[in-house]
Order: sequence, then structure tokens, then C-alpha cells
Amino acid sequence: MRTADLEARIAGWSRPGGPFDPAVLTAHDEAESFPAEACAALDAWGLPEYYVPVRYGGRQDRLDEFLALLRRIAARDLTVAVAHGKTFLGGVCAWVAQEDGPADLLARHVLAGQPVAWGLTEPDGGSDLLAGSLTATRHGSGWLLSGRKWPVNNATRGNLMCVLARTDPQGGPRGFTVFLIDKRATPAGTVRPLPKMPTHGIRGADISGVELRAARVPAHALVGTVGGGLELVLKSLQLTRIVCVSLSLGAGDHALGLLRRFLGERRLYGRDLVALPHVRVTAGRAVARQFLAEAVAHTAARAAHQVPEELSVVSAVAKAFVPTLIHGQLRLVGDLLGARGFLTGVEGYGGFAKLERDHQVVPLFDGSTWVNRAGLAGVLPLLRPGRRATAPGAASPVRWLREEHRPAPLDTRRLRLSAPRDSVLGALPTLVAELTGNDGTPGAADQTASLARALLRAYERLGADLAGTRPTGGAPSTAALRLAERYEWCFAGAAALALHAARPRLHDGPWGRDGLWLRGCLALVLEGLDSGPSAATQVYDRLGTLLGSTPDVPVSVLDDTAPDEPARDGSVEVPAA
Ligand SMILES: Cc1cc2nc3c(=O)[nH]c(=O)nc-3n(C[C@H](O)[C@H](O)[C@H](O)COP(=O)(O)OP(=O)(O)OC[C@H]3O[C@@H](n4cnc5c(N)ncnc54)[C@H](O)[C@@H]3O)c2cc1C
Repeated sequence: MRTADLEARIAGWSRPGGPFDPAVLTAHDEAESFPAEACAALDAWGLPEYYVPVRYGGRQDRLDEFLALLRRIAARDLTVAVAHGKTFLGGVCAWVAQEDGPADLLARHVLAGQPVAWGLTEPDGGSDLLAGSLTATRHGSGWLLSGRKWPVNNATRGNLMCVLARTDPQGGPRGFTVFLIDKRATPAGTVRPLPKMPTHGIRGADISGVELRAARVPAHALVGTVGGGLELVLKSLQLTRIVCVSLSLGAGDHALGLLRRFLGERRLYGRDLVALPHVRVTAGRAVARQFLAEAVAHTAARAAHQVPEELSVVSAVAKAFVPTLIHGQLRLVGDLLGARGFLTGVEGYGGFAKLERDHQVVPLFDGSTWVNRAGLAGVLPLLRPGRRATAPGAASPVRWLREEHRPAPLDTRRLRLSAPRDSVLGALPTLVAELTGNDGTPGAADQTASLARALLRAYERLGADLAGTRPTGGAPSTAALRLAERYEWCFAGAAALALHAARPRLHDGPWGRDGLWLRGCLALVLEGLDSGPSAATQVYDRLGTLLGSTPDVPVSVLDDTAPDEPARDGSVEVPAA
């Protein structure tokens, strides 16, 4: 993977005066100016190639790798990751539509370094895409577009923008169409940028909008089919929601780096800060949150290749769950940093407040936490335990989560609006049954098994609570949203168990010995399910102690900086349906 290379480059660029120098990025934040130098460095490194699938001449063939790249950038500066990574979101409709004309055209622009924006939201629409009023009407062989998209990332800097437009005045699910607009090719005066909006976080990003006044676009601006826009957008969101969680992982990396430094430096009452039990336990909780977030994000990225027909559920879980989990982690870290988490001028720690502000946008865009959770709540009755958990002959997640497993190319034709099953959570009973008792010392292995069995019982209780529910099309009740949240926690626990089973490497090392990282994840999950285990404090205490005492060990269960290797298990993807 080129992740290690990017990581090394960013480290170099972070030296004083370099494009990623924290002082330079802070100055951009304070001046609300675009971090152009950092984005130019990423262009020069070749990041745009990762926004374009291999099929169209780019280098994007693995979502897990793409997540790892964006995570590295976010770990240094979330604003830069949001500002640059937006081009993936802007282009994704063209890749999902899989029509060579628009996709080839867009690929050429992206590979040439052109930023692309994605215009879905309208001032009066918000999350309700069916309320969109930007209209496209036929005009000769092309179209005339009128209306506004706002707020939109890169709306002013991006010469290109994919927009969702109403093509049937009646609207409705088949009433919208996606167009790729090249602003440079529209008649003068028909496209007007809307002013940059001051923002609470990601202050340097180009958050603005666009107004179209009978802007003429050619026939080849059409992406997908007329009337197929909403479906195309909903399928594209399944990929972008997974990609978005890498921003949260990077924010978590950044925060844990600051916390680790603080634990190494801070002395109170004549002792190291970690001598305080509360500090160790809180730090350990923050670490466990990072591991659990990684397990969900990585499973989702691999699932995109292996079980794309399940992605409506997997992506909703990932987008609702991971940013929320990391939001909580940042609060824990901020709490421990105390004044240094609040003061912006203390050398080495000033970045925390910016990072926390920047991250607040992640739960909000590409479908807020509640939009994703509501979507999940509506289909839960179809996914309840015991219903169509696995497809006949489908590979277990343990198989496709193996380190050496090489995912097949993403097949966007297999994306579906409604998932037939959830094979990650469906695997939970088997994962618990197959937990080997010889993983670590007997006491630790017993504890891991006991936590896993408690998770299985919580999952069965969820199944019982879902038994009387029916799929809903309208707004879900608060009780249904809580069921969806419980589903997310169960999914996260299953993802952690599957990763543990798939990766022998994770049974060793500081975090893995005695299944420590897994126990941290399971303890968190059980707390989220209101079944907090008595062992939790002790597990967090150990994780927190390790954070402070192993400064050189990455806080990660993913080794995504390993070099590319051919698949050693000879595995070839087995379509799940
Ligand atoms: C910095 C920034 C960058 C952005 N970039 C882009 C971009 O590039 N392209 C783009 O198209 N848009 C972009 N957006 C818009 C973003 O996607 C919207 O904020 C989002 O669509 C939600 O709209 P809204 O904030 O107006 O909230 P509303 O839709 O008005 O929602 C209000 C509240 O209701 C909740 N809610 C909404 N629907 C449901 C539901 N079904 N069930 C339960 N609760 C619900 C929401 O979570 C929220 O709490 C950006 C926004 C920001 C702030």
C-alpha cells in the first residue's frame, strides 16, 4: 500500500514552513483561508488518482486502502482531508452509474487535478432530497438548469459539480436526475457562486454554494438515466458514507496522539498523571473507542467489495455509529487534557480545539447520524436475528477480513437500495461459538468468552424486541431509533469479533495479548447496550496504562501501512447472491 509513503511525505511536509506545518494550517483556520499549499502537495503526490477507479484510468481499487489514505490526512488536519477528499464524493455518481462517456470525461478532469463538488442539498431541502427544487428542463439536445445548491463543499473552487436536479415537475422517486456540470462550459452569467459561509469548524474549507439561472448544459452532462437520479445518489451515498468515517478515524488518531503526549509529560501531585486511576480508565475508554471504530470502518470497507448488496445497512451503521463513537472519544480526551484542550495557544496542544471543532461536521454531512439511524430503523424488522442471515454459499466475514485477502474490484451494479440481509451481524452466533478458549491466559480467555456470550444474549434480546415490529416507510418512533442504535452496537461487536478471528496478528503485541483490544471493544459494546460488564473498568485501566507506557506502538488494530502483497490464501471473491 502507498499509505506508508503518504504518511512519510506528510511527516516531511509537516516540518516548519512546509504545507502541513501545523502553524501554517492554524493560520489558514484563523484567517478562514483555503489550505491551498497542503492540497497542492496532495495533488503532486497523486491523491486524485485514488478518486478514480482503475477501470477509468485511476488507482482506486480498494476501499480499505482509500480509507487508510484519507485517514492519514485527517490525522494531520481534518480541514485538508474534507477539502481534498470532497472530489471523491463529487465523482462517485459517475462511477456508480458505470457509463463510460461521463465517467471517462470526469476521470480525465479528476486526474488532471480538478476538484469536483457534489450538490445535493438546497437551502429549503436539507436532508429531504425529494424536496429539491433545482430544476432541469430539456432544451434542444441539452438541458437548462435553474435553482440553488447550498451549502456545498468546494462549490466555488470546483469547476465541476455533480448536481441532483428535478426533471419531473411532480418530483417523486423517479423525478430526479444527476447532471455533471462543467461551469466553464456554461454560458456567461448563468452560473453564480454563492458566498463562502463562515463555519464553526473546517473554517478554511470552501463551504459555499451555487446558483444556476437557465444554465445550459449539453446532453452528455447527464449521468445515469433520466429519472434515475435519486436511486443513483442513494447508491452512491452507500460508498461515500463509508469513506466519510475515515475522517473520524483520523480525528481519533490525532486526539490520541495528543493525549499520549500529555500522559507522557504531565505530572501532578508529584507523580505521573497516569497514576490517577480515573485518568487511566478514561484514557483506556478513548483507546477502546478507536479500536471499535476501526473494526466497523474496516469491515464496512471490505464489505463494499464482498457484499455490496448489503451496503445500504452496512453504510448506515458505519456512518451513524463511527462519527458518534469518535465524537464521544474526543470529549473524553478533551476532558483529560483539561485547560490544554481548551486553550488554543499552548505549544503542542493548541490543535485539539480545532480538531474537535472540525470533527463536528462529520456526523452531520452525507446523511446525519439521525438520517442514517432512521433509515436503519425502517428496515430492522427485515434484519432481525434469524431472518436470512447469510446467503447460501456465502463466505464468512472472517474469510474476507483476513489480512492477506485481496478484495475483488468494486462492482457497483450489485448495490441495492434495500439489503437482503446483514451477513456481518448474521455471523455473530458462529463468531461467539467459535471463540477459542486458548486465546491468552485462561482468566483472560474466560473473560473474553463471557463478554462475547453477553453480547450474544443482548443480540437475542434485540431480536425479541424486534419480533413484533413491521417495516415502516414514514418517520420512525424514538423507540425504533433506539432499537436501531442497539443494532449498531451489536454490529460493532460482531465486526470486532470477526476481525479478531480473521487476524492471528491481533492475538499478540501490547494491544492484542490476552485479547485485550477485543475485550475493550466488547466492554464498550455492552455498555452501549445497557449491559455494562463489571470487568470493564479493569480492561480500560490496562488499555490506558498501555497508552501511556508504549509511546512508539501505534494505537491501531489495522496494519494499513504494510506493503502490497499478492493474496496468500488464494482467495477469490464469491458473490454472495
Ligand atoms: C460544512 C458543511 C459542508 C456541506 N457540504 C455539502 C456538500 O458538499 N454537498 C451537499 O449536498 N450538502 C452539503 N452539506 C449539507 C449537509 O449535507 C446538510 O447539512 C444535510 O443535508 C442536512 O441538512 P440540514 O443541516 O439542513 O438539516 P435538516 O435536514 O434540516 O435536519 C434538521 C435535523 O433533523 C434531523 N433529521 C433529518 N431527517 C431526519 C430523519 N429522517 N429522522 C430523524 N431525524 C432527522 C437532522 O439530523 C437534524 O438534526 C454541507 C453542510 C455543511 C455544514
